[in-house]
Amino acid sequence: MITPIETPWEPDIWRSELQQAIRTSAQLLQYVKVQSDFASDSEPFAVRVPRGFADRMVPGDANDPLLRQVLATTHEQIDTPGFVRDPLEENSTDNLIHPAPGLLHKYHGRALLITTGACAINCRYCFRRHFPYAEHQQSRHEKALVAIQGDDSIEEIILSGGDPLLLDDRALERLVVSLEKITHLQRLRIHTRIPVVLPTRITQALVELLAASRLDVVVVIHSNHAQELDAATARSLAALHNAGIHLLNQAVLLKEVNDNLPAQIALAKALFSQRVLPYYLHLPDRVAGTAHFFVNKQEALTLHRSMQANLPGYLVAKLVREQAGERSKTIVSI
Ligand SMILES: *Cc1c(COP(=O)(O)O)cnc(C)c1O
Ligand code: SF4
Repeated sequence: MITPIETPWEPDIWRSELQQAIRTSAQLLQYVKVQSDFASDSEPFAVRVPRGFADRMVPGDANDPLLRQVLATTHEQIDTPGFVRDPLEENSTDNLIHPAPGLLHKYHGRALLITTGACAINCRYCFRRHFPYAEHQQSRHEKALVAIQGDDSIEEIILSGGDPLLLDDRALERLVVSLEKITHLQRLRIHTRIPVVLPTRITQALVELLAASRLDVVVVIHSNHAQELDAATARSLAALHNAGIHLLNQAVLLKEVNDNLPAQIALAKALFSQRVLPYYLHLPDRVAGTAHFFVNKQEALTLHRSMQANLPGYLVAKLVREQAGERSKTIVSI
């Protein structure tokens, strides 16, 4: 019998933390006491950083790996050949891939449901910076639910976004209850960076909501660097884990953030100590405005081989990339 760890957070702290998030590069630089010649603010993909995340940056360090992920810079305005707005062609209107608004069904057995366009943090390398959320965002998912109901090859629904845990508990519960009624569904997966960037969102009520589901729940978090994981994330992740929720991590391989062996080893060990198994290490997509984060395939493969030589097999994430038209993520190989 596992005793659930009560998460220590008051129910609505996360909302005020979200409201107080840092919203400009200037504010962020001032907060972490760094000067930069490259900082800029770009709309519509604005700077957004919860203070709790900024508190994990090293003050005065212009090369801090957390700062680099979220500070908007002039590098984003550089046009690089081959870097395009929609490298995965997910904005296409192909009905097989898009059976309903907000529903992406690319791979066998699992479909991805876009819940909200918003995130608790804006990561500069994200493909989402160009995604036409207005066309996909559905506060109600009626058409998607009908499409899922009508396709019994779908066993697993992945809630994605944006960040699905930005929905409030009522909206989330409504959605989970609707999904539970679809008898061929077995698993519910949630792709979220929130346990890392806004751990106070993992309230007891949220944990209980997920734990009560008849579906097997998998939460795939997104952390790129061990420095992102602290006592607060440990608390929230332990609460999810103790409620029987499987925890996996996907990371993105990012130049001058985590493209070195010590950073990858430290990340794998920190994740495991917080009950999370590494799942994917993504080669970045060629998204316009993110070329300064790009790591090439050869460097990635070399790094991945060193990870295998230095970590137990279960702590080595699969090195993958997404290729338009493929039936799964592609394992990166020579
Ligand atoms: C990545 C992804 C999935 C999940 O793939 P897994 O290999 O099962 O993690 C599902 N649908 C879409 C559209 C995806 O991009
Ligand atoms: S949290 Fe995820 S979806 Fe949101 S900006 Fe960051 S990488 Fe993109």
